[in-house]
Amino acid sequence: MNLIVARPEGLYCPPGDFYIDPWRPVESAIITHGHSDHSRAGHSRYLAHAQSAGILRSRLGEITLQTLPYGEAVTHNGVRISLHPAGHVLGSAQVRVEHGGEVWVASGDYKLEDDGTCQPFEPVPCHTFITESTFGLPIYRWPSQAELFADINQWWRTNAAAGRASVLFCYAFGKAQRILHRVDASIGPIVAHGAVEPLNRVYREAGVHLPATLTVAEVAAGAFGQALVLAPPSAQGTPWMRRFGFYSDGFASGWMLLRGTRRRRGVDRGFVMSDHADWPGLQRAIDGTGASRVFVTHGSVAVMVRWLQERGLDAQGFKTEYGDEDMADQAAAPVDQAATPTDHDQPVGAPQAAPAETSLRPSGGIAS
Ligand SMILES: [Zn+2]
Repeated sequence: MNLIVARPEGLYCPPGDFYIDPWRPVESAIITHGHSDHSRAGHSRYLAHAQSAGILRSRLGEITLQTLPYGEAVTHNGVRISLHPAGHVLGSAQVRVEHGGEVWVASGDYKLEDDGTCQPFEPVPCHTFITESTFGLPIYRWPSQAELFADINQWWRTNAAAGRASVLFCYAFGKAQRILHRVDASIGPIVAHGAVEPLNRVYREAGVHLPATLTVAEVAAGAFGQALVLAPPSAQGTPWMRRFGFYSDGFASGWMLLRGTRRRRGVDRGFVMSDHADWPGLQRAIDGTGASRVFVTHGSVAVMVRWLQERGLDAQGFKTEYGDEDMADQAAAPVDQAATPTDHDQPVGAPQAAPAETSLRPSGGIAS
């Protein structure tokens, strides 16, 4: 029996009568994490990890929310449900469901490397694994975090020595806090954009160490020369940037691996940094579950399905409407990666719709 099926509303568990990260309003929704394409408004009841509560309430207001710690199970209509760390952002969880001796795990978004800001990914043995595939192409291999932060620190240090601010564009929930947690805060003051600071507060309240951050109002005009400024991609090219005068800008995203993306973004530096597993990470995660059947939900679905089938697994695509929060950083991806919703029936490289929230880039759409 299929414990989880794809319905127009989202991933659905028929015996349990609940959905996982549904994109249309439903009665019962299990939420893997607080990014907006996974946690939508309008459901009657929510279940999520306890550390997602702050972000869900700040985004969705007053909701009926039951929370669970990792590893603890609840039973709903005879289906045993538990949440397990996904290593993606604070509170992110894989959902394990068990019924009639069958175990399925829905991954949500995940990455394997421990970034120090959330509980690291844990493989959960299962018969069927539902995996994301945002960066499911062999070209995607991330640098180590040591290399990444050496690069970011060096860029900031060089700018500070020249008296120019370092403005780093990054997604406000998850990535900004990873940067704060690991960057060398002795180089200079750190300024957080108004969209970033509320998320910093959620992380600090969860006990994640982040260095002190300032708002732009707390820094005297003309005193940004040594500062690292963390801002969401939507701030690029806005009047908010004028206060920094002469500055260098950078962009942190997995898509920065692609030269075309860096060029279209029009920033001085691209830092390859993602909250999603790279190609080897996806393979390791799938292997680690021991699953004989794999459903692929979003990203490079066709390539991943073919790869898994060639390795003898029963693999197929699941049509979902998940995107990539980096696509809010977005627009920068190649067409076969950029689809929201994912359409696994289309061959890789076929033209697909642009993500809903789109481009701040000056140079047109992703299909150009
Ligand atoms: Zn996410």
